[in-house]
Order: sequence, then C-alpha cells, then structure tokens
Amino acid sequence: MEKLEQIHEYAKNLNLNYLKINAYKIIEDADLKNISYQDFLLSVLENEIALKNKKAQEKRIKDAGFPVIKRIEDFDFNFQKSVTQKQINRLLEMEWIDRMYNLIFLGPPGVGKTHLAISLGYKAVEAGYKVSFTTMDKLMHTLKTQEISRRSKGKMNRILSSSLVIIDELGYLPISRDEANMFFELVSVLHEQASMIITPNKGFEDWSELMGDPALTTAILDRISYRCELFNMNGKSYRLEHRKSLF
Ligand code: ADP
Ligand code: MG
Repeated sequence: MEKLEQIHEYAKNLNLNYLKINAYKIIEDADLKNISYQDFLLSVLENEIALKNKKAQEKRIKDAGFPVIKRIEDFDFNFQKSVTQKQINRLLEMEWIDRMYNLIFLGPPGVGKTHLAISLGYKAVEAGYKVSFTTMDKLMHTLKTQEISRRSKGKMNRILSSSLVIIDELGYLPISRDEANMFFELVSVLHEQASMIITPNKGFEDWSELMGDPALTTAILDRISYRCELFNMNGKSYRLEHRKSLF
C-alpha cells in the first residue's frame, strides 16, 4: 500500500478526520513552506482539535431541535422597536441563564418572537449551554407519550437536563385540563433548575381561558414570572410587511 494511503487508513482508524481528509495537502504544504517538525505536528493536532470542536458544536445545535436557524445578527431592531439591541446584548452575556431567569416574548403573529427565541437559544448553545427547543403542541405530545414511547422519554429527559428550554407557540391551540396539569408539573420542576423562553400570543389575562382553570393558571404564571423578563412585542407583522410575491 502506498504510504499516503496507509496514513489515510490509520487516520480513519483513529478517527482523525482532519488528517484523513487533508493528509496529502498537509504534507505538500509542509514541503513547500519548509516548516519544522515541531510546527508540523502542532499544526496537524491543532487542526484536528478545531475540527472535533466544530463537529461537537454542530451536534449540540442539532440536538437542541431548532426548526430553523435564526441569527440575532439578522434581526432588524428598527422594525421591531419593543426590544432593543442593548437589551439583547445584555441577554447575550447569558447571565440570565446562570440565574435561571425566564424570558417571555409576548405578541401577535409575525413580530419576531420565534426569531428571538431561536437566535438566543443558538447563542446559548454556542456559549456551552444545553438547550432544548419545542413547541407547546409538541411538548404536550411528548408529555403524554413519554410512558409509552422511548423517543418521547428521551426528549423529556433532554428537556429536564437542559439549562434553557424554549417553548414556542403557546396559546395557538387550546389545551385540555389534563394537559394544563402536566404543563404545571413540568413548569414546577423547570423553574427550579432551568431558564425558559416562552412565546405566547395571548396576554396573561387570557391564559385562564386557554388553560381552562384559573387556579392552575395562577400557579403556572406564579412560577414562570417569579424570575422573569417580559417583552411586550407589538407592531406590525414582519411577514406581512415583507410579504414575498411571485408577481
Ligand atoms: P412570530 O414568532 O412572532 O410569529 P417570527 O419570529 O416567526 O414571528 O417571524 C416571522 C418571520 O419574520 C421570520 O422569518 C423572522 O425571521 C422574520 N422576522 C420577524 N421579525 C423580524 C425582525 N425584526 N428582523 C428580521 N426578521 C424578522
Ligand atoms: Mg412564532
């Protein structure tokens, strides 16, 4: 076997992906630039570590379960003035997660609630926090099926071991009394150990009707709003204003 091929095989065997893909180029580069053995080894190992870290990061993003990736850099603060760049910069320091604060982005459809939730979650993953994204609808399904589905059980375990749990689209679909009870139990656990981002489209005054029980609603709100920052997002729908048209 040719030596290069052998290097390729060994690299594959040892899971050295950078070396596996770049062996030829690395050797050629080293020849051209006449670099020392020490610098050569150093460079190979550094690149190998960088690639491993990148892969791990990608996996952590994937595991968070974002439906799409949204970046805070793409958020137009001139369009949505209820949240300021300064507030977001403060949130990007992530202290709120360490202190287990919850964020509520409240507002009608299209004002950027999900965008902000995902982009903050994305930055939190980048900063090393374990993040889980779900919608209220999916969360209810996961809660109800966790005893009979391994997949749901796994999801629940992930949610319960996350530092940040994002629950999107609360209030779009009505929930039953049982579901409200399960939600209450989850919130009771989470508010002691994690941060939550919630994006309701209905104000707190309407939650009772949504949950079907005023006492339970009070108990849920009590736990969520204990350490909490509320962003009342109003204004126009970004979707409607930037409506894409074929003709
Ligand atoms: P909501 O969750 O409040 O219904 P979304 O966050 O889903 O709204 O926003 C709808 C679409 O508009 C998304 O594609 C989002 O990226 C975009 N969008 C909303 N607000 C802004 C904004 N201020 N700047 C840039 N894009 C925005
Ligand atoms: Mg949304």
